[in-house]
Amino acid sequence: MKILITGGAGFIGSALARYLINKTENTIMVLDSLTYSGNLDSLKEIKNNSRFNFTKCNILEFEKVKEIFTYFEPCKIMHLAAESHVDRSIDSPKQFIETNIFGTYYLLEAARNFYSNLNSSQKLDFRFHHISTDEVYGDLKNNNDLFNESTPYSPSSPYSASKASSDHIVRAWKKTFNLPTLITNCSNNYGPYHFPEKLIPHIIISALNGRSLPIYGNGKQIRDWLYVEDHVKALYKVLCDGKIGETYNIGGYNEVTNIDVVTSICEILEELAPNKPKSIKHYKDLISFVEDRPGHDYRYAIDATKIKKHLGWYPEETFESGLRKTVKWYLKNKDWYERIFSGDYKLERIGKSE
Ligand code: NAD
Repeated sequence: MKILITGGAGFIGSALARYLINKTENTIMVLDSLTYSGNLDSLKEIKNNSRFNFTKCNILEFEKVKEIFTYFEPCKIMHLAAESHVDRSIDSPKQFIETNIFGTYYLLEAARNFYSNLNSSQKLDFRFHHISTDEVYGDLKNNNDLFNESTPYSPSSPYSASKASSDHIVRAWKKTFNLPTLITNCSNNYGPYHFPEKLIPHIIISALNGRSLPIYGNGKQIRDWLYVEDHVKALYKVLCDGKIGETYNIGGYNEVTNIDVVTSICEILEELAPNKPKSIKHYKDLISFVEDRPGHDYRYAIDATKIKKHLGWYPEETFESGLRKTVKWYLKNKDWYERIFSGDYKLERIGKSE
């Protein structure tokens, strides 16, 4: 089948594109405007495959998006294009409102227009899968609570508010226009090809360069970490077998505090990269605590019972195994991140947390 992936040059989108080309027979079109976080190097290993297509396009360009639908004739849409970094949404929220809310609206309208011209059997197969975050649910103060699919939305940051809005809009297009939609809300991802401003790659690269490892507040914030390759398998399961109109929460069953994430990386580096920068005896010596982020949520944790029970998905990686794979990948793929730094991206712009 033909799958249109928006944001397919980003971290999760490129993992999804690699999975669909390497592990399935599907033909894909990646639609991406290549913002600072979009990177064609992340698609290098599949770019010569005859089932892979790429088009540079901003989802806000409605006419162009409609043309891509007409030309490619997708059977499924997987919508990942977004502004995704919380710190940037605090610095300049406008782009988040435009891409995440208006962009989703334009894409839905293009999909609705295309869908209305399909025959009845094509309509049966068509899906619009919106990829979202657990951050829409807000903050968990109590250590025993979990987000499930009926948890009320309570976003804290401009990023999570824009994603929450887009989720509501997608649901409305199902209810009002009968567009066959699916929504997934996932916890924090990590793994190869993660843009170096996000916590895990930022800590790995900074440690290797002997730079300080800044941690917001006391570092006790808890996130539920999911290895990106487990996430994309879940997305494909939902796309193929998910029930139209439903939402599925996806989580890693790996709740870890930020400080434990950072110290675990330091411990793995002690073993895998023992030749440290001269200024330090241990990688942990680089840890520093900085002023907390405004509106910083304390804890996110997903109840992923529904996707396990109805679709049989469960993550394969533990945090220990996934983190080790991730550190190894960054040690082997210095070229990938150095090319990012050699462009217009500057190290000092790197944020301090997810
Ligand atoms: P990312 O920032 O790495 O990638 C986003 C991609 O979207 C980039 O390739 C960028 O060029 C593209 N893009 C941005 N604006 C665009 C526009 N206007 N038109 C076309 N393309 C545009 O983000 P990611 O971490 O891969 O996240 C992908 C999706 O998954 C997002 O919707 C995010 O909200 C969601 N999500 C992410 C996580 C996570 O931990 N990273 C967790 C849950 C959900």
